[in-house]
Amino acid sequence: MIRKLISRVFGGRKATAGHREPAVIPVASHRITRDRISSGSRRVCETLQQHGHKAFVVGGAVRDLLIGAEPKDFDVATDATPEQVRRAFRRSRIIGRRFQIVHVMMGQETIEVTTFRGELDANTKKDEHGRVLHDNVFGSQAEDAARRDFTANALYYDPATEAVIDYHHGVGDLKARTLRMIGDPRARYREDPVRMLRAVRLAAKLGLIIDPAAKKPIREMADLLENVPAARLFDEMLKLLTSGHAVKCVTQLRDEGLHHGLLPLLDVILEQPMGEKFVMLALANTDERIRRGKSSSPGFLFATLLWHEVLAHWEKLKAQGEMKIPALYQAMDNVLDVQAEKLAITRRIAGDIKEIWSLQPRFEARAGKRPYGLLEQPRFRAAYDFLVLRAEAAEIERELADWWTRFQAADPDERAQMLLPEAAGDKKKRRRRRKKPSGPGGESGPESGVDRDSQAG
Ligand code: ATP
Ligand code: MG
Repeated sequence: MIRKLISRVFGGRKATAGHREPAVIPVASHRITRDRISSGSRRVCETLQQHGHKAFVVGGAVRDLLIGAEPKDFDVATDATPEQVRRAFRRSRIIGRRFQIVHVMMGQETIEVTTFRGELDANTKKDEHGRVLHDNVFGSQAEDAARRDFTANALYYDPATEAVIDYHHGVGDLKARTLRMIGDPRARYREDPVRMLRAVRLAAKLGLIIDPAAKKPIREMADLLENVPAARLFDEMLKLLTSGHAVKCVTQLRDEGLHHGLLPLLDVILEQPMGEKFVMLALANTDERIRRGKSSSPGFLFATLLWHEVLAHWEKLKAQGEMKIPALYQAMDNVLDVQAEKLAITRRIAGDIKEIWSLQPRFEARAGKRPYGLLEQPRFRAAYDFLVLRAEAAEIERELADWWTRFQAADPDERAQMLLPEAAGDKKKRRRRRKKPSGPGGESGPESGVDRDSQAG
């Protein structure tokens, strides 16, 4: 307390930053009328203001509206405490993540309401690298603005007056298409290394240039990411990969040296020619889906990112004499055991990933009843999309994917005609099984191995 008072009286970077007079930008100049924000966030602000509190739409939504992008969600910042917010709304609950926030349910919408954060001080708990561990101190609006990461993210929109309140020249920076860090970038990355990833993601997503002062330290400070809890990295990576600009993000991550230690396998994968091609195709495909407003499941995404690692393990196991299917399952487990822990992939997502992978060999069976059984699988669609990607990456023959494309669309008669003769396939299979495990996969690389079998029918 006393230290905080002294630092305020005698100044210091954060204290001055926290007491700056904001620019109040009228609607005539920015043209964001109140009907542009969601009805839920508007009602939340109105209700809090009626209770005598300050309340604004804040962060990404204001930024996105200013540059003509569609906001993902509308967050609210207020001087009311979480408890006061909770009491003001019947359908609301306090959730404690890194800091306490309140979820207010308004119709279909859930509005995240955050109490203004106070400035960091000597009492703030940090780890040995300077990463902030707890920050649940409330503060003024000016302090809250100074705690945000980029100037473009520190804008407050008041639905009552339709004014944008700008403490850090965010509107000007946005006009100049610049992503500028509030305060000293090095200090801010040390407090929270995830800001490096946010810089890359937001710049890619919004078409902004990272200000050189914020860009330069990223390469030197990338190692700090190793110290961030895996679950938080996973969340951020997921945001990045589902931003609709994953190709750009991953390319820039690599340019900034940020993929090391982050998605450790991405590193390995990107260096294998087949792997890189596959991952980039998969990401381009995801970007395309998201831009068309379709969803993309985390399971599918991570299944693609880790596939070539599975292929490599699978090939190795087969070369050691393992049978095809048990080898695949073992390879899947090997890869997921390592990655699930490193990336904090949840059990549910790991389950989805496995399903997509394990259905792949089943596409090779194109005789008898088996193709019909596969069509009935709940995860058929994702597994088929995955198969198409493999064909596009030339890992397997195009012909197999095309066959499945046609088979799905065909009527019952056509389907029956498409089936391959049962006997031939079966005989081959039996012969193969009886063969002694003397490393048949020896001559085939990871990219061709899977398909050799599928060609056989
Ligand atoms: P998106 O469009 O992906 O939602 P966003 O900027 O809204 O981008 P959120 O994670 O929703 O990202 O965060 C909301 C706001 O909270 C940000 O605009 C920023 O003001 C603040 N914020 C988020 N993460 C950080 C951080 N690591 N450090 C400082 N401020 C942050
Ligand atoms: Mg947001």
